[in-house]
Amino acid sequence: MKNLIVQKYGGSSVADSIKLKKVAEKVSGRIKKNFKLVVVVSAMGKTTDNLIKLSKEVSNNPVPRELDMLLTTGEQVSASLLAIALNDIGIKSKSLNAFQAEILTTGDFNQARIKNLKIKKIRNLLKEFDALIITGFQGITEEGEITTLGRGGSDTSAVALAAALGAKCEIYSDVAGIYSTDPRLHPAAKKLKYITYDEMLEMSSLGAKVLHSRSVEIAKKYGITIYCGSTFSDEEGSFVMKKNIEQPVVSGLSVMDNQTQVTLSNLPLDFTLVHQIFEKVAKEGLNVDMISIISNSGLNISFTVIEDKKTHVSKALSQILKGMKGFNIDYSSGYSKISIVGIGMKSSSGVASQYFMALKDIPVKLVTTSEIKISCLVEEKYKDKAVKSLISTFEL
Ligand code: ASP
Ligand code: MG
Repeated sequence: MKNLIVQKYGGSSVADSIKLKKVAEKVSGRIKKNFKLVVVVSAMGKTTDNLIKLSKEVSNNPVPRELDMLLTTGEQVSASLLAIALNDIGIKSKSLNAFQAEILTTGDFNQARIKNLKIKKIRNLLKEFDALIITGFQGITEEGEITTLGRGGSDTSAVALAAALGAKCEIYSDVAGIYSTDPRLHPAAKKLKYITYDEMLEMSSLGAKVLHSRSVEIAKKYGITIYCGSTFSDEEGSFVMKKNIEQPVVSGLSVMDNQTQVTLSNLPLDFTLVHQIFEKVAKEGLNVDMISIISNSGLNISFTVIEDKKTHVSKALSQILKGMKGFNIDYSSGYSKISIVGIGMKSSSGVASQYFMALKDIPVKLVTTSEIKISCLVEEKYKDKAVKSLISTFEL
């Protein structure tokens, strides 16, 4: 279909009736320029957080299926309200929930993945309506169960719809695009005009809460360019796409707090043990991040986990290491992981040297690298200093 755009509006853009009406005006403006729109919405403001809080008031451990039944109500409210507002200003529009739009997902409640989108119905409806408003974040299983895609998942709904419909994709929120680092923490952060899928994936897995990672994976797979912009200003946003036309060496920096470093020292020099440890940790569903292994007279293993998994990890490790003697385990919390990301690192040398020059006064605990990323672990008290120094070194 010609001139079809999928737009997504985040929770803060539809937080109240005044904002919803402004979004309706924005949608209407586009339709008057001869576009048809599929609009994906998040729940209003902090609705999802509040629903989760409510569920915790009745249970410490809400049943995942019921939690999804609960959370999906949020998006149904904003979708229908937006359709009401649009009809009120003369735009032929209709809202659809995931069941009606037939967004099929796996049955993993709270973290389902989209499997299939039946776009025939949407295409037909677009002949009759100028705007279809679709609830983000939710899907249904083959069996008709209602699921959600994980927190922040409405980005993924939007990108998947754009891919299936062969449409452009625009994601609107209260920030005007993607920044080299979090603009709320570092006001001097630079807005990026372009960022590649891989850089963006690193950034979101590193804690930059900009786009749902899965949405970027889908965009990469189907070659969808995502435009990220501000809902209520005309400031130019950022494009997430295949190539970064500007190719800076380092494009972004992100920080993840609440890291615990687990250090096992003086283990026997037995590499099957390394396998057993990480197998156990994986079986427990624990996410291990930075890993370092040093073998000399004994084996020393160090890795990081998120702080609130500390007890879980220590339980798992004591099961594996039961009966063994002569080694030490240490759990140190209060660390931050700071990463710089850039597709240009692949082809330039000296990045590591600049990186360590920037961190020369800071005790770095662990370092990991990939082709397009360098991360280090530092005590939280050194975080600001490290971030400032990296920002100025790499002109972020
Ligand atoms: N409303 C959901 C959330 O808060 C989905 C989203 O906003 O993307 O996580
Ligand atoms: Mg979001």
